[in-house]
Amino acid sequence: MDAGSIPNPAGDTFQRSRKSDELPGLYVHIPFCLSKCVYCDFYSSTDLTLIPDFLAALRREMSLNKDFKRAFDTVYIGGGTPSVLTPADLERLIGDILTAFTIAPDAEITVEANPGDMTARRLAALRRAGVNRLNIGCQSFDDDALAFLGRRHHARQAVETIRMTRDSGFNNLGIDLIYGLPGPPGGAFAIWLATLRTALSFHPEHLSCYQLTVETNTPLADICRKSDIALPDRDIQARYFSRTAEILEEAGYLHYEVSNFALGNRFRSRHNSKYWNHTPYLGLGPAAHSFDGRQRRWNHRSVATYLKDLATGKPPVADSELLSDEQMRLEALFLGLRTRRGIHLGDFKRRYGQDLLAEKGDILRKLMEDALVEVRNGFLMPTRAGMAVADSLALI
Ligand code: SF4
Repeated sequence: MDAGSIPNPAGDTFQRSRKSDELPGLYVHIPFCLSKCVYCDFYSSTDLTLIPDFLAALRREMSLNKDFKRAFDTVYIGGGTPSVLTPADLERLIGDILTAFTIAPDAEITVEANPGDMTARRLAALRRAGVNRLNIGCQSFDDDALAFLGRRHHARQAVETIRMTRDSGFNNLGIDLIYGLPGPPGGAFAIWLATLRTALSFHPEHLSCYQLTVETNTPLADICRKSDIALPDRDIQARYFSRTAEILEEAGYLHYEVSNFALGNRFRSRHNSKYWNHTPYLGLGPAAHSFDGRQRRWNHRSVATYLKDLATGKPPVADSELLSDEQMRLEALFLGLRTRRGIHLGDFKRRYGQDLLAEKGDILRKLMEDALVEVRNGFLMPTRAGMAVADSLALI
């Protein structure tokens, strides 16, 4: 173990950024869903008749970016619901990406899928095209919970999709789950624990466990406003968080980010880690964001505007912002303290010009006394209790 690495509960080590970690990532947003889930504020349209025009426009956007000089070592096709595309469209899309850009030979290539849409033919097409990681939005293995969330699928379909995925040869599988649904405290918690047990029975290489939040302008916000339905209070949410982390760590998972768990370092989401490390990424498709290490820009959310811009050869960019030194520093603090690896103090000083131990010594000592952070081998790391309140840690 070198001075830039620290052991973690899964028996691996966290490393300081290596050069290979710094290759950019490519994100492609497929902005279509068969229907909208009540809690979701991601951009997507349910007008599937626009898919052929969208795919043609996406090819145009790729060619506008074909001078992107660097190789990508991650590709993430998300949405929306990429699994609404036909097997032929999925295969062609990935082929177009591999032709338009330089993709590193060992790249992580992920596609998001919804249970219910995924068929053996789609899975075979993804395998043929070179996809090596599948992330399935199961959200729950309880039919009542799925109905409350407005999901189209049933628990049985989620189980079948996972089995099909394994049968198709995918050995890097992620499952997304949501906890903290309304309900009698004991009952909802027991349902969550059963969902977690079912997920573990498939030995997924990656698990994302998100706390249900009410985003403004979603149907869920309306439901909560018009009824007496309320999400669990802060103490109950904290219990969900810590019990989930305990169970998954006991099962051998590395709790490497507030909501993310991997069966060891090699199954971390390499792509999402770029967002937390300030590594550049290129985003294609409506609402996709790009970051070049200093400037962030984002595409129009509307499919119609996206199509209109690309029809005239114009980049479909809605706006951009150049991050100031102070914004970069605050973001690095905020994002770094959401990861178990935390912040490498020496790298932080070099990159953002702040010696955290010298300038924030008093507050850090207090956080250490409260067992919310620790300093080990040059890293400032949140503890499990610290990760539960990660957003407030960044206010130091
Ligand atoms: S949660 Fe996923 S499937 Fe549901 S509306 Fe949002 S993007 Fe679509």
